[in-house]
Amino acid sequence: VIRLSGAGCGRRLGSARLGSARGMGGPLRVLVDMDGVLADFEGAVLRGFLSKFLLPFSIHFFWRNGFWFCDCQIKFLFPAKVASIYESPGFFLGLDPIPGAIEAMQEMMLMQDTEVFICTSPLRKYEHCILEKYKWVEKHLGPEFVERIILTRDKTIVSADLLFDDKDTIRGLKSAELNPSWEHILFTCCHNKHIQLKPPCRRLLSWADDWRAIVESKRRK
Ligand SMILES: [Mg+2]
Repeated sequence: VIRLSGAGCGRRLGSARLGSARGMGGPLRVLVDMDGVLADFEGAVLRGFLSKFLLPFSIHFFWRNGFWFCDCQIKFLFPAKVASIYESPGFFLGLDPIPGAIEAMQEMMLMQDTEVFICTSPLRKYEHCILEKYKWVEKHLGPEFVERIILTRDKTIVSADLLFDDKDTIRGLKSAELNPSWEHILFTCCHNKHIQLKPPCRRLLSWADDWRAIVESKRRK
């Protein structure tokens, strides 16, 4: 196994590591993040912010003229206002699926020798978030995926081959595993588009991009 020094996307060089996370011969295990990968968290934050804090005429202006800021800028400028949106009841359950995500998950679930899990970090203010994440999965993906939810504030300790995640640096808790077993595939989102990945770190541009090739690249040759 080749390891990169420092934090950041793809700390583990997956292309050098073929076979299952739990040794040779087991099924390939894929973790898929929820917010920003399956559910459109960023879009809902932006829409919520515009409708709650800006006057209706401004909303029309922004929609007509195209967004001149994205949700990461409003998160930086107005953190408390933004938090009030995603901590509201109904926020997580009301998220739209990311285009192609549901179809990709259903297809991945049926792939031979492949296990798929949803790996998501709940908010620290978890009052609505956790229940609504479960309900969202049942509503959009069905009960078989509810069985496959992993809730953790530290994804580094979960053993898998791949993790599709929009967060550019996955640190986990203080006790985090420095060399997680999975290869992190950066799922493109508005807040990470500017990041230049150094090879062999890989991106998935969207669910229309070739996620199947990434999954297949991890199988033992
Ligand atoms: Mg995410």
